Amino acid sequence: PTSHSADNRYVHGLDRQYVFHSWAQQGSLDPMVIASAQGCRVWDYSGREYLDFSSQLVNTNIGHQHPRVVNAIQAQAASLCTIAPAHANLARGEAAKRIIAKAADGFSKVFFTNAGADANENAIRMARLYTGRSKILSAYRSYHGNTGSAIAATGDWRRVPNEYASGHVHFFNPYLYRSEFWARDEKEECERALTHLRRVIECEGANAVAAILLETIPGTAGVLLPPKAYLQGVRKLADEFGIVLILDEVMAGFGRTGRWFAFEHYDMAPDLIVFAKGVNSGYVPAGGVIISEPISRYFDDHFFVGGLTYSGHPLAMAAIVATLDAMEEEGIVENADNVGNGPLAEGLKRLAECHPIIGDWRGVGVFHALELVSDPVRKTPLPGTEVLKLKQLLMEQGLLVFTVENRIHVVPPCIVTPEEVEEGLAILERVFEGYTASLQ
Ligand code: PLP
Repeated sequence: PTSHSADNRYVHGLDRQYVFHSWAQQGSLDPMVIASAQGCRVWDYSGREYLDFSSQLVNTNIGHQHPRVVNAIQAQAASLCTIAPAHANLARGEAAKRIIAKAADGFSKVFFTNAGADANENAIRMARLYTGRSKILSAYRSYHGNTGSAIAATGDWRRVPNEYASGHVHFFNPYLYRSEFWARDEKEECERALTHLRRVIECEGANAVAAILLETIPGTAGVLLPPKAYLQGVRKLADEFGIVLILDEVMAGFGRTGRWFAFEHYDMAPDLIVFAKGVNSGYVPAGGVIISEPISRYFDDHFFVGGLTYSGHPLAMAAIVATLDAMEEEGIVENADNVGNGPLAEGLKRLAECHPIIGDWRGVGVFHALELVSDPVRKTPLPGTEVLKLKQLLMEQGLLVFTVENRIHVVPPCIVTPEEVEEGLAILERVFEGYTASLQ
């Protein structure tokens, strides 16, 4: 499937000589070369094939090179490549109309951005303007992006060296497997996490808090499915104190959990929904904020002090329209539900039962994490070097996964078939078996 005259060596060499990478010490990099991709598979220049159960950065929900999206981008490029955000544009209007149709009742407008970080940035700005307050509460176990406020709102280690924006406060979100609250079951974890959040709001001064920002299901932090009552409780706290609730659906949204939005699992809704990734599977960078009716109405007669040259870029918008139409007509979200909660979840559960190295398995739809431990009783995290070894072994067998700290995230595209799931699970089984045997 390659039509390039380039080869792995040339492309690797170009990269190492000229490309500066994200989140990395530049000298020690050995990036994998990818030449082409189709559906759930990618190839290098030698024709070596990999099953992509990482969805790259958990964004290719529709799989690679969906012909309908590729055609839509080509057609848009032929008619109008770019136009300023102040103009009315057909692709932008159609994209916004489709996104509003997928959101819960009560959402009325979409503000488009270039990706997830600047979408969070603008959701935070809207909440501050709307409430006249400044503080943003967000969870330690979270990632919200790599711009000023988005990285300061992030809870994980990437925040610490980048904390330039002010007005950010963090709290612990529920994570029963490693409870911060000494909880013995989900009910206790939920109640204690809500009491903790209430105390943080009170101590920070409720009148100073503009927004609570949460990933509906924290993704990079470990696919930490919150108890249903937790998100409902957060909604109640936000209402009680007049705080805007922002749910970051950048990773969990647009099919990943087997629903259009992850919050649909929780019988509640936020005031602002932040999206990116799956909205057009990253074929052209795009993100945005879906704005509920009251906040939207507020800006009818209040100036919104924010904007981007490429807000609602026609190529990205055409990709959104085609992606959402294809997902709808081809039942791609239903597929993520059926295959993800069926054979994929069943297979991962079996794998976790057979291999003590898997301390915990969590997931929904095509959004799963295997938490690896060297001691299942003490829950000692498997060292990162061992996780990388496992990742390498999986790659040698032709499987790409997303690894973070002591976890393997199994996050295939929403179009994954039962046969591909069987193939991926067989590789995971073989690698875990071989790895465990090598330790004896
Ligand atoms: N929010 C969440 C939940 C994410 O997972 C990410 C990226 O992984 C972002 C925001 C940032 O998105 P982007 O990298 O497109 O700016």
